[in-house]
Amino acid sequence: LLQLFRPLDMLGWVYRTIRQGLIDMADMFGLMDTAVEVQDAPGAPALIVRRPVVTFENVSFGYEKDRQILHGLTFEAPAGATVALVGPSGAGKSTIGRLLFRFYDPWEGRICVDGQDISQVTQESLRQMIGIVPQDSVLFNDTIGYNIAYGRDEPDAGAIRRAAADAAILPFIEALPQGFDTEVGERGLKLSGGEKQRVAIARTLLKNPPILLLDEATSALDSRTEQDILDTLSRVTTGRTTLAIAHRLSTIADADIINVMDTGRIVESGSHADLLRRDGLYAEMWNRQQSEAEDSEREAAE
Ligand code: ATP
Repeated sequence: LLQLFRPLDMLGWVYRTIRQGLIDMADMFGLMDTAVEVQDAPGAPALIVRRPVVTFENVSFGYEKDRQILHGLTFEAPAGATVALVGPSGAGKSTIGRLLFRFYDPWEGRICVDGQDISQVTQESLRQMIGIVPQDSVLFNDTIGYNIAYGRDEPDAGAIRRAAADAAILPFIEALPQGFDTEVGERGLKLSGGEKQRVAIARTLLKNPPILLLDEATSALDSRTEQDILDTLSRVTTGRTTLAIAHRLSTIADADIINVMDTGRIVESGSHADLLRRDGLYAEMWNRQQSEAEDSEREAAE
């Protein structure tokens, strides 16, 4: 992965920023093979974010012209709110993340950040505003410090330390004989899923974006690690507008708004309590996941 981007190293900070975004996205969505098709509009201005409100207005989209994936999707993520996207596999949750990052343009409708149509601003400025915590982070074969600072212009050691502390990985790093200079990745120290995710969180904290895109780990973390990560994430999301793509509903039950998707449409929307009262698709998914969790606890106890 790194080798693919190595030629870009020469090209300065503009590319570093974009590359960071691309690598985060690639982590998140396994998109390495996807050609980046969109281009900046001629003379496009930079996105200016005062209030990080994200709106999807009647957005329709498909990857191939005869197969529509999203059907007239409308929703808002108010500034500072956490908005979860849940729903069956293939419903289009990740597609929403890809469109927000402008890997593709919608067929119809528009996506705005703070009232500005994202297709009319530079991709670089858009991607600078969005931090991504992918479900399975790729680590580079380099030091843990490099992995946290990745993509930053002039990372300073104090900021890296603070980011590591806020991502709750500082004690782990400090206990290593070589600290931030410890080599990680394939040839170095192997990190657990939870540790890798904390590195990704620290990287995002260093970037300090007003908007976050979270992709919940599908790979099972043990429940204590999961709770630790959730606690860390809740600190990270405070004060930022967050879109959280979730598979396990327990991780997003606290979201301000939960949008339930099915075949490219939002079929229910509300808080956890609203949606349980409604007794529709969300309630059905919730009850199923609760009983699965109880079953596996019982099995573990036996
Ligand atoms: P999951 O919960 O399984 O991750 P999801 O709700 O995130 O699913 P998406 O990844 O958004 O679903 O996919 C929605 C639909 O778009 C799926 O039917 C998928 O096959 C299709 N799709 C996704 N990526 C591409 C692509 N690059 N090219 C063509 N079709 C795609």
